[in-house]
Amino acid sequence: MLNTTPTLYDDVAEVLISEEQIQQKIAEIGARICTDFAGEQILIVAVLKGALLFLADLIRHIDLPLAIDFLAVSSYGAGTESSGVVRILKDLDETIEHQNVIIVEDIVDSGRTLDYLLRMLRQRNPATLHVCTLLDKRERREIDVPIDYVGFEVPDAFVVGYGLDYAEHYRQLPFIGVLKPEIYE
Ligand code: 5GP
Repeated sequence: MLNTTPTLYDDVAEVLISEEQIQQKIAEIGARICTDFAGEQILIVAVLKGALLFLADLIRHIDLPLAIDFLAVSSYGAGTESSGVVRILKDLDETIEHQNVIIVEDIVDSGRTLDYLLRMLRQRNPATLHVCTLLDKRERREIDVPIDYVGFEVPDAFVVGYGLDYAEHYRQLPFIGVLKPEIYE
């Protein structure tokens, strides 16, 4: 008999980036980071919660001494648009002074969150400060932010999966997808 129990997968209209594509790209980014920081130690600053899965897979491809710290941010306002006002929900546990910091983000959209974080972290005097994002929604950019490592450019659509949520759901999907319109209604 067919299993007709509804699953999260039924809510997905389209898979934009497959699990295989994501994993292949992460291996490439990890290799680049290893080359760029050869002989150095790095501090990965991951932005919760969206970057969680990306972080976990990425560090397994970085064969360098590294430490991890977390920032949790939220932009004021609800819905699927970033308001541009960033609130720090959880700050870093440790100082970043004189360290090679790589910010790991899930997605850069308007660029407002990243711009805020870059300005905040620069003031703490890291030795170097780089940015790595899995997704780049470049056509929506409002503030020009420097990004050193990009996984994929995505179109102007609200995406979920691989860490990214809609109302806290869908983070565990192993791919990046677009939800069916009725989910938002
Ligand atoms: P920005 O400040 O660059 O406009 O927005 C960055 C944040 O907005 C991301 O870290 C993410 O939390 C959220 N965001 C932007 N676009 C999307 C999207 O397509 N899907 C999801 N789930 N979150 C998004």
